Amino acid sequence: MHEMSIAMSVIDAVTEKARQEGCSKVTGIELVVGHLSGVEVESLKFCFSAACRDTPADGAELVIEECEAVGRCEACGETFPITSFYAKCPSCAQFRVQIESGQELSVRSITIE
Ligand SMILES: [Zn+2]
Repeated sequence: MHEMSIAMSVIDAVTEKARQEGCSKVTGIELVVGHLSGVEVESLKFCFSAACRDTPADGAELVIEECEAVGRCEACGETFPITSFYAKCPSCAQFRVQIESGQELSVRSITIE
């Protein structure tokens, strides 16, 4: 499952970070997930709670912020919120849209003890 491998790599990353800081427990993780990242937030939460068992992130509070995707029209330069890869420019109706943001999945912050 896609979300399970994401959850595990996030846990790996935060566990490594906690170790570097000399901490043994991760109590909070804040993620930013773009609308076009292809990640199901509910599914990711579910996978996370399973994947964090017996790791330093066990019981950590997971906060996921979903961020809107933004596209930029290659024809007229307009930027606008988009909900799919095949968005139409609202100002010139062209389909030549570049994804500016919305595909990211990143760890914004972690809380460690
Ligand atoms: Zn346009």
